[in-house]
Amino acid sequence: MSVLIVGSVALDYLETPFGKMEQALGGSATFCSVSASYLTEDVRCVGIVGSDFPEEHIRFLTSRKIDLLGLVREAEGKTFSWGGRYHDDMNTRDTLYTELGVFEHFHPVIPEEWKKSEFVLLGNIHPSLQMEVLEQIEEPRLVVCDTMNLWINISKKELKAVLKKVDVLILNDEEARMLTDERNLIVAGQKMLRMGPKVVVIKKGEHGAVLMSKDSYFSAPAFPLEGIKDPTGAGDTFAGGFIGWLARTGDVSVANMRKAVVYGSALASFCVEEFSIDGIRALTPEQLAERFATFRTISSF
Ligand code: AMP
Repeated sequence: MSVLIVGSVALDYLETPFGKMEQALGGSATFCSVSASYLTEDVRCVGIVGSDFPEEHIRFLTSRKIDLLGLVREAEGKTFSWGGRYHDDMNTRDTLYTELGVFEHFHPVIPEEWKKSEFVLLGNIHPSLQMEVLEQIEEPRLVVCDTMNLWINISKKELKAVLKKVDVLILNDEEARMLTDERNLIVAGQKMLRMGPKVVVIKKGEHGAVLMSKDSYFSAPAFPLEGIKDPTGAGDTFAGGFIGWLARTGDVSVANMRKAVVYGSALASFCVEEFSIDGIRALTPEQLAERFATFRTISSF
């Protein structure tokens, strides 16, 4: 089934204890779309890039069969760029800069033939842009929303308006605490469920992820990785895998969302093993299936 994904498409500057990378392909829509493309075929990407966006990246996204009809390519202006530096623990990072470029005046326009998209992933962008997307979509089966600390800090009101209209909210533990002013994640989860979403997924980095609905709780471990090089995009990759699995199966039950959490975690585990998008650039179905099976082994007792 179709998955419409909106978010940033970026050229990032990345710095981790394992090296640096300039002009790295990134952005929330990029990671989400590439990740979803491993699980479902009809992935539709909405975003914007500038004239500096390399053609090889377009070729790569197209090679993953990601439909770029909704990707605006501005003749002038620079692509959105984010610079991040990770601390030694690889969990915390500093944003070095955020250059909006062509994103500054961006308003997503959903192509007519995409307005009936069944699955919608509101990748991490300003909540008012996420709202603009929702206003253009007709009766989606499932809306999943990702966000980040920046929007919770500066646009909480707009974010809360979006949350009233989404089915699933995905965010990390720190963001959950910020959004709810609660230390305890269970209490925070319950509070978020009262904000609109029927399901909340809280990612806890190396400690896995939990999925909460009004009457259920599920906890998935993180894949036991030794070699993490660059965590950038792990959250987006998780979200793309999560919705990709739901779209592939057409089953939006909470029971199936447990599997979706594991697919999201499996894809995210590949993502962090290399810089930028490289960890999920060329995966085989066997690699993904193997990691999914390992999740089952390490969490069954
Ligand atoms: P994550 O590590 O999952 O938080 O995602 C990192 C990606 O998000 C990077 O590739 C950035 O280009 C992108 N990003 C960072 N800040 C923003 C922002 N304010 N709006 C949209 N995308 C962003």
